[in-house]
Amino acid sequence: MGESQHVEAPLVLVVDDDHTTRMMALEFVSQAGFRFAEAGDGEEALKCLATEEPDLILLDVEMPGLSGFEVCSKLRAMPKYANTPVLMLTGLNNNKAIDLAYSAGATDFATKPINWSLLCRRLKYMYRASKASEELTRSQERLTVAQRIAELGSWSFNFATREMLWSDQMYLMFGIDAKAHKPSLILLCSVVHPDDKSRVVAWFKNVTNKKFAGTIDFQIVSQNGQNRQIRQVLEQVFSDDGKLCHLQATVQDFTDRRKAEQRIHQLAFYDELTGLANRTLFSETLSQSIIMARENGEQFAVAYFDLDDFKKINDTFGHSIGDKMIHAVGERVKNMLCVYESKGDIGYRSSTLARMSGDEFTLLLEGIESKNSVASLANVLTQLFEEPLQVDGHELFTSLSIGTALFPEDGETVDVLLRNADIAMYDAKRAGKNMHRFFSHDRDAELVRYHAVEDRMRMALKEDQFEVFYQPQLDLESGKVDSAEALLRWSDAELGFVSPIEFIPIAEENGFILELGEWVLRTACEQTKRWIDDGFDVQKMAVNISVLQFAQAGFTELIESVLADTGLDAAQLKLEITESVLAVDTEHAVNALKALKQVGVELSIDDFGTGYSSLSQLKHFPIDQLKIDQSFIRHLTENSEDKAITKAIIAMAGSMNIKVLAEGVETAEHLEFLRANECDEIQGYYICKPMNAQDLANEMGNINNLLAEIFSDGALSKAS
Ligand code: C2E
Ligand code: MG
Ligand code: MG
Repeated sequence: MGESQHVEAPLVLVVDDDHTTRMMALEFVSQAGFRFAEAGDGEEALKCLATEEPDLILLDVEMPGLSGFEVCSKLRAMPKYANTPVLMLTGLNNNKAIDLAYSAGATDFATKPINWSLLCRRLKYMYRASKASEELTRSQERLTVAQRIAELGSWSFNFATREMLWSDQMYLMFGIDAKAHKPSLILLCSVVHPDDKSRVVAWFKNVTNKKFAGTIDFQIVSQNGQNRQIRQVLEQVFSDDGKLCHLQATVQDFTDRRKAEQRIHQLAFYDELTGLANRTLFSETLSQSIIMARENGEQFAVAYFDLDDFKKINDTFGHSIGDKMIHAVGERVKNMLCVYESKGDIGYRSSTLARMSGDEFTLLLEGIESKNSVASLANVLTQLFEEPLQVDGHELFTSLSIGTALFPEDGETVDVLLRNADIAMYDAKRAGKNMHRFFSHDRDAELVRYHAVEDRMRMALKEDQFEVFYQPQLDLESGKVDSAEALLRWSDAELGFVSPIEFIPIAEENGFILELGEWVLRTACEQTKRWIDDGFDVQKMAVNISVLQFAQAGFTELIESVLADTGLDAAQLKLEITESVLAVDTEHAVNALKALKQVGVELSIDDFGTGYSSLSQLKHFPIDQLKIDQSFIRHLTENSEDKAITKAIIAMAGSMNIKVLAEGVETAEHLEFLRANECDEIQGYYICKPMNAQDLANEMGNINNLLAEIFSDGALSKAS
């Protein structure tokens, strides 16, 4: 066996039993720039093929042992040498040997005696041709792979032979068995979706008749019954004399890309959570409506609405439930519109519902007949949430505050209309929530005020502008003041006196209530401790707690640390929480209240009767006291219904061992009625208005005189 001479040069294996021939071959082949390997017989040649990898083989026919034909057949059976050029050396004019050589798989033959320089030249051409064919095969394979990856098929049609060729990918894409079908235009059209068939056939007729190039999209029904989106790009090939001779086309399955495009469109214009239009789409629709309404001299309305106190739901239950609630609200409104609009005679032409962000939704009503038709729909919208939403097994109550701006009177651009509808919504919120308001031009000022309050609030706490007032609570059995309620007061240098009714909801909306509430708690506890140490009448303090504070992680620990810091006994602190705490999440509320009871503080339900909770529901909660809301007390003496409700609350609470305090007691008659019906405590202007600690200390003497008078002169007779 020879050695390689040039590293990169192609290797020629010379197989011949004649030593001289091999010597000559070495000489010439090397000179021609090939590397050289040799074998003296067939066996040796096959061994060599296992270790070396010749690029060309020169094979003698007549050898002892295996003949050249046998060696050739054997090497062709090896995949590695299936296409390697084999030149067989035969005797002169031995036609039979030549035929046998070809049928054994030889590439070519040469006759002995050998013209070596000619032979070397042939070897070179054979090598070049084999490389080219190898390259072609490889590039065809690459093309097939690329077409498969790109889901790109191709076909061509020859007008002269009427023959059509399909690439492998075409068969795959169309779900057609290549072995069972001859490719044709008819076969191609047979898988086109029935909806598109006539269009595709007409298109093909067109391209075969006249000069035309282009693209057509159509659907096919693939073998597994799925519809696929196909894009076909066609080119016509003309002969020199201008005759159409070929059609060449690429065919691409772009179903997945179409889906991706649809998804991108969905993400860009629709809200993920609710599936409704998003801000972008809504703004675009709105700007179109402005153009149309202006042309047609029409009016339309933009409503902005959000969920009242949604932040509390989110803070109490977490964002997952919050998200589900928003989804549920979107569904309920969407379904309502569907039903409402199917009735006809609705006073507008069409509607578009969108979710802007968070819990904010918008509704565009086009072609409205009058303001009344908008008001009617808004009314239906608010009533829609009288029933609770079922979210993950929770019954959640919510309500909507809705604001509406009209085109053209309240604004003529997208921004102004949206802003004014938003202002109107805040107006609805401040008027008590769960209602609808039209935009009114003088509401601008109120919004400015809202933001001013919001801005100055934090500064006010740092600058010590907040103060805690105290309002005594009277025990009707003993006739003595024994506790007081802490009530926040704020006078701002610029804004003047700001009522807690105004700033507490704002502090709840922006979360500042947590900081502010803790400050009230500390201040009130410190004051109470001082009063107790001084032997003052007030021995217990009631502090208002916002739902947000209650839901805050570590609230129980906060209470414990404030008690520890101020030295106040837990039994001397009463926490006033509103009914909404109980309405929110029963299990969480029960556990949180139990934890607080464990600490030893008293728990009181404030403004009882204004929310959704019922007395029977209360028995699940460890409650010490109910505060009947002042709205029941205000008309107590003249309104028989309020009398009945108040009596019922007192009686039922008594049966559950819960004490009752009536707030807003303003007259002797109120007091008389409550005492006669065995209410436990009262609070109100009749006894004393809320005042600061110093004033209350000064006033206490007068209060005690009044009480002595009330409880001694027998003025209280049993009222019925
Ligand atoms: P609330 O807890 O129900 O407090 C009773 C409200 O009724 C107080 O109003 C009090 O001044 C008023 N009031 C007392 N007696 C009478 C009466 O005889 N007639 C009438 N018409 N009103 C009476 P205020 O101080 O304006 O507080 C309003 C609400 O603001 C409170 O209602 C409470 O919900 C909230 N609030 C006040 N301070 C705080 C606080 O420190 N934290 C929290 N979270 N809320 C507070
Ligand atoms: Mg209160
Ligand atoms: Mg109250």
